[in-house]
Amino acid sequence: MRRNISIVGGGAAGVLVAIHLTRTASVPLHLTIVEPRERLAEGVAYSTPDSEHLLNVPAAGMSAYVEDALHFVKWAECSPQDFIPRHRYADYLRSELQRLTHVNPHVALQHVRDSAHAISTSPLRVSTVGGHDVLADVVVLALGNAAPFKPDWYSHLTAPVVLDDPWVPGALETIPDQSKVLCVGTGLTFVDVALSLTRRGCRVTGVSRHGFLPHIHAAQSTLPLVPTEFDSPTAVSRWLRSQSDWQAALTALRPHTQVIWQSFSAPQQASFLRHARRYWDVHRHRMSQNVADKLQLAIHRGLVTVLRGDAQRVAAQSPWDAIILCTGPDDAALINTAPLRSLASQGHVRIGPHGKGIDTVPDSGCVRNRDGAAPLDIYAIGPLRQGTLWECTAIPEIRSEAQRLASRVLA
Ligand SMILES: Cc1cc2nc3c(=O)[nH]c(=O)nc-3n(C[C@H](O)[C@H](O)[C@H](O)COP(=O)(O)OP(=O)(O)OC[C@H]3O[C@@H](n4cnc5c(N)ncnc54)[C@H](O)[C@@H]3O)c2cc1C
Repeated sequence: MRRNISIVGGGAAGVLVAIHLTRTASVPLHLTIVEPRERLAEGVAYSTPDSEHLLNVPAAGMSAYVEDALHFVKWAECSPQDFIPRHRYADYLRSELQRLTHVNPHVALQHVRDSAHAISTSPLRVSTVGGHDVLADVVVLALGNAAPFKPDWYSHLTAPVVLDDPWVPGALETIPDQSKVLCVGTGLTFVDVALSLTRRGCRVTGVSRHGFLPHIHAAQSTLPLVPTEFDSPTAVSRWLRSQSDWQAALTALRPHTQVIWQSFSAPQQASFLRHARRYWDVHRHRMSQNVADKLQLAIHRGLVTVLRGDAQRVAAQSPWDAIILCTGPDDAALINTAPLRSLASQGHVRIGPHGKGIDTVPDSGCVRNRDGAAPLDIYAIGPLRQGTLWECTAIPEIRSEAQRLASRVLA
């Protein structure tokens, strides 16, 4: 009998699930990807047409397959340490999915170009804004990140251009050349935005509470052995500080992060989020040397300024031509997106630990209902699982999850 699997969200995570399902399926499978964008695999991260927006993970870390680490490197004909333009990664995932659907006669793939607005159960059904109803035996939620968190004061800004989300297609083009621009946030999004805008003669200031820029990927020494257990986030921090090469230590820690996170108590996790998250983010989410060199040059020429301070005050101090929110995604807002709201109203999902994403069973990714049980064939992948797994938003983790999910739903 043909199985119907519906993937809601066709960004990198949704397409990686489709790739692993298509590679594994030995029974007839009808695969539907519900995604409003014209092209699959782009999502927020890989839709930028700007070739200076590079992957922030070396090519060797971006293969679709854990066991074939150089698959992307071979496809892109680059060196394992190269940082490739992000839009090329979407090309890679699309071409891999297309190749697999051609070679596996069991799989029929359909892209429903629409947004899901509701998911109902018995039977499982994904309903879209445009009136499609997709019946499914299994639903995979791959909705990606929410838009950035918007503080109250941000809604009252009166600059000629105020952007809530720089990754909305075409958003940066609404800013005139030569503008004086303020970015709220100084992480990787700020760096991308600053490099794009300075090429058009803009002067860009970034402000954040700590004024930290992301660290730079450096060549790493041999990876150290990671202890089998840490009894607290402080113990992790102590271990990282004791290593001579913190970048190698972070890389060594990465495959164990989800297990370590789950071994902490809820108060320990909350304490990490409150006190250590900022430090974790700037060390963990690094930029390439090439991008860092361009940024340093722009700073040296006075085109980019980085401030530590209160963004609201800085926004009020000067007549900015444009203000852009470059802070991270609002993890708590994901539950308010239409398909999740509909599931929550029926009691089929609940908000995730620490208000992040939705609650899921750690091993399977199956969503938990309001009582904590997981009786339905509804799974989540990617940023939706951040409260459960912490480290789950980048490709090295997403591809492993996609592979496990495919094996589970096809078993
Ligand atoms: C700017 C940026 C750069 C990044 N660079 C890297 C990198 O270099 N390397 C790395 O490993 N990670 C990177 N990341 C991390 C990134 O989160 C993941 O790599 C990846 O994009 C996550 O894929 P996703 O499919 O979960 O999310 P997304 O790519 O955001 O895709 C989610 C998709 O769901 C769709 N969707 C949303 N709501 C609905 C709905 N109601 N119905 C139907 N479809 C819907 C959206 O249209 C979107 O296409 C980056 C993230 C960002 C934001």
